[in-house]
Amino acid sequence: MWNIIDSLWSSLAIFLYALFLHGIALRFLREKRPTWFTQPNKQRLVHYALGSYYGLLGVYFIIRGLRGYDFGIYTDMIINILLITALFGGRGATLIATLIIASGKILITQNYSEQLIYAFFLIAFYFVVTELAALKIREFQKFILCNLSIVPFMLYYLPHKMMIPLDWRSGLQWIIIFAVSFLSSFILYQAARFVTAANKQIQELRYFSLHDPLTDLANYRYFETRFTQLVKKAKHKEQPLSLILFDIDWFKQINDSFGHQAGNHVLSTLGSMLREHAFPKNTFLARIGGEEFAILLPKTSEYEAIEFAEAFRIQVEQHVFHFGQKELTITISAGIASIDQEHIQNSDQMQSFADQALYAAKNAGRNRVMKKPLY
Ligand code: GH3
Ligand code: MG
Ligand code: MG
Repeated sequence: MWNIIDSLWSSLAIFLYALFLHGIALRFLREKRPTWFTQPNKQRLVHYALGSYYGLLGVYFIIRGLRGYDFGIYTDMIINILLITALFGGRGATLIATLIIASGKILITQNYSEQLIYAFFLIAFYFVVTELAALKIREFQKFILCNLSIVPFMLYYLPHKMMIPLDWRSGLQWIIIFAVSFLSSFILYQAARFVTAANKQIQELRYFSLHDPLTDLANYRYFETRFTQLVKKAKHKEQPLSLILFDIDWFKQINDSFGHQAGNHVLSTLGSMLREHAFPKNTFLARIGGEEFAILLPKTSEYEAIEFAEAFRIQVEQHVFHFGQKELTITISAGIASIDQEHIQNSDQMQSFADQALYAAKNAGRNRVMKKPLY
C-alpha cells in the first residue's frame, strides 16, 4: 500500500519535471518564433508537438509500470496526461497523445484482453475530456468533471491490477488511493496552470515593455534595438536599408483647437494607417516620440524609400479624421536616410541624418519628404 503511494509521488515528480520542461520550451519558442503562436497552421504544429511529447511521456509511464506490481499509478499518470493535454493543449494535442499511448500499450504489453480494454478506455476518455474541455464552464469545473469521469474506470481496472479487493474491508485503502490520486491530479493541474499563466504574463510584460499603448506600434526602446541590429545586418550583407522619420505638422494646434483627446485619436488612427499601408514585407514601424514616427525599410534603397514616404504622406494629407462631430485633417513632414546613400557608420549617425532631413522638410514649409541635404 505505502509502496503504491510512494510510486505515485515519484511519478508525480517526473510529471512535474516534464511540465517544467514544457513551460521552458514554449517560452523559448515564443521568444524565437512568435509567429508560431499567431498563425493557425503553425499553432497546430506546436499543439501536435506537445501531444507527441506527452504521448511519449505516457509510453514511458507504461514501461515503468511493467517493472512494478503497482500498475495503477501509471494508469493514473496516463489519465493525467490526457487531462492536462485536453485542458491546456486542445483536441489535436490530446488525440496525438492518445494515439501514441495506445500504440505504445499495444507494442509493449502482450496481453490482448488488457490491450483491448486499455485502448477502449483511452479512446473513450479522449472523447470525454475533449468534450468537457470544450464546454463553456470554469477551468476548475472541467477539471473536477474530468476526474469524476475516471472513477468508474478506476473501479473496474484497478482492483486486479493493484491486487486490492473491492470490498468493505479494503474501504480505507481505496479511500486513500482515490484521495492521493485526486490530490496528485490536482497538483499537476495547478502546476500546468501556473506554467501557462507565468508564460502568458512574461509574454504580456515583454510586449508592453516594447510597444506603445496608444498606437500599438513599437516604442523607442524596441526601435533602438531593432535599428542597431538592422544596420549591422545591412552593412554585413551589403544590402540597402532606409529609415523614414516623420513628424506631424503643427500638432500642437490640433491639441489646442480640438482637445488632447482628439490629438490622441489622430495618433492612434495614424498608427492603424501605418500598419495597413502597403509597405514592403519586414518593414518595422515605431512611435519614437510624442507625434514622431519611424519606418525602417530593410532591403530598400533611398529612391524606393522616398516613393514609400511620399505615398504615405499623400494618404495622410487626404485622410479626414473624425472625432465626435468634428472633422480634421493633418499633414506630415518626413526625413530620409539610407545606408546606400551615405557612408553611414552606425545607427546613431543614420538617425541623425534622417533627423536633419526632417528639419529641412519642416523649414522648407512642411508637408513634404526630404532626404539628407548634401552640404
Ligand atoms: P511642428 O510642425 O514644428 O512639428 O509643430 P508641432 O506643433 O507639431 O510641434 P511641437 O513640438 O511644438 O508640438 C508637439 C505637440 O505634440 C506638443 C504635445 O502636446 C503634442 N503631443 C505629444 N505627445 C502627445 C500625445 O500622446 N497625445 C497628444 N494628444 N498630444 C501629444
Ligand atoms: Mg510636430
Ligand atoms: Mg515633434
